[in-house]
Amino acid sequence: MSHTKLFIPGPVEVSAKTMAAFSKPMIGHRSKDFQNLYASIQPGLQKLFMTRQPVFVSTSSAWGVMEGAIRNLVAKKVLTCMNGAFSDKWYDVALKAGKQAEKLQVEWGQPIRGAAIEEKLKTGEFDAVTLIHNETSTGTMSPIEEIAEVARRYPDVSFIVDVVSSLSVLPIDFDALGFDVLLAGTQKALALPSGASVFSVSERAFAKAEKQKDRGYYIDFLEFRKNHESSMTPTTPSIAHFYALQSKLEDMEAEGVEARHARHLKNATITRAWAKNHGFELFPDAGYESIGLTCVRNVRNVDIAKVISHLKANHHAVIDGGYGKIKGTTFRISHMGDESTANIEQLLGWLDEGLKSL
Ligand SMILES: *Cc1c(COP(=O)(O)O)cnc(C)c1O
Repeated sequence: MSHTKLFIPGPVEVSAKTMAAFSKPMIGHRSKDFQNLYASIQPGLQKLFMTRQPVFVSTSSAWGVMEGAIRNLVAKKVLTCMNGAFSDKWYDVALKAGKQAEKLQVEWGQPIRGAAIEEKLKTGEFDAVTLIHNETSTGTMSPIEEIAEVARRYPDVSFIVDVVSSLSVLPIDFDALGFDVLLAGTQKALALPSGASVFSVSERAFAKAEKQKDRGYYIDFLEFRKNHESSMTPTTPSIAHFYALQSKLEDMEAEGVEARHARHLKNATITRAWAKNHGFELFPDAGYESIGLTCVRNVRNVDIAKVISHLKANHHAVIDGGYGKIKGTTFRISHMGDESTANIEQLLGWLDEGLKSL
């Protein structure tokens, strides 16, 4: 059956192999079969996160873990680093979780810089920071190495880092960076169906969570750790996601980590070049462009909705016409997940056609 191919930055296109794994028959979540399945994906997940810590699977979208991390780790006040739609929302989520929060707001398209975080942390008011490594709404990637240096100087401050659209796109070494929580939803860079997340928690953060009285239940880090010891989850998970993850980790192993990263960089390079060659500009500040997607500034003011309609009608594919307050003045092309360079070249050819048809 033909379907509309997704080149939007999430959910992204899911391969037939992944879908087949996702559709396997159910098994009991307290069965030996499930424990074997759970244990079988741990080494691959730990390799992906570059960590010795357990990697958990939560059957919630990323926001479940993003809210849960706040509940587990904020006792005093959280600094929410904001430079786009997703990171901006984290501030509201912290307030809704009943926490004190303060904004570190920069313009959309600008990265979050280490010095700006440090300036705030110097006050001693904060015990947690939220950061989105790759702001998907604006295609902007913040320099995590630089931010990790700041994190190392403030060991009592929990760094909660979202890598939803950058995990597996480039190396992210959880243990070396020294962050406290690393989390990602499944429907973006991992190219799995939506509805689940993967995350890891530092030893220091577990110790802090132990002292926290209102962690809640659904995303209680300690419940995840306890169940992990017997290769199980606190509640009945989306077992389909475990099968899909198993299949995806096999794909990653077969491709090779470095080849996967190189493929993403190549996809980004040709997409950025295409945009510039067509008289567009890139939305993010130079040097901070995402590798998993390209956010294009529509300086030619083309009717991007029309281009998308053309793409859909003629090639059964879609890109994204811009997110939130930058809808129409930007558009986004996703090249994360399983996309080959040939696929992206073909898509760019279709966009050429679409632009000519205006
Ligand atoms: C998509 C996205 C989210 C939100 O994910 P949900 O699956 O809707 O919970 C969070 N952070 C980033 C960077 C995203 O791209």
